[in-house]
Amino acid sequence: MYKTKIQDAKREAYFINRRLLHLPKSHLRIRIRKLYDVWAYAEETETGNYRTILNCEFPSYKLFRDVLAHELIHQWQYYTGDPGTHNKNFFTWRKSFGRLGYDILKEY
Ligand SMILES: [Zn+2]
Repeated sequence: MYKTKIQDAKREAYFINRRLLHLPKSHLRIRIRKLYDVWAYAEETETGNYRTILNCEFPSYKLFRDVLAHELIHQWQYYTGDPGTHNKNFFTWRKSFGRLGYDILKEY
């Protein structure tokens, strides 16, 4: 079991962003909460802010970083005006993330 730490989340997010996504900082805000039916989600708030919400624990660190990578791809979609679904644009990232050890799956 891995308990989500904001420092880990930021380190992973900044690494992914530096290597791949190149998003502005406004798309890299992260919150940790107790979630009940998903591991995480990416959101655009009513006031036009972007946040990634992560569950407070994961079965493994590996799942934590894979889920975070998945949600950051949704942030990239918001940034580029894509609807943010698991469409073709979403999966164009699968290979480059895979090279860095992140497995991008459809469902979390
Ligand atoms: Zn998703």
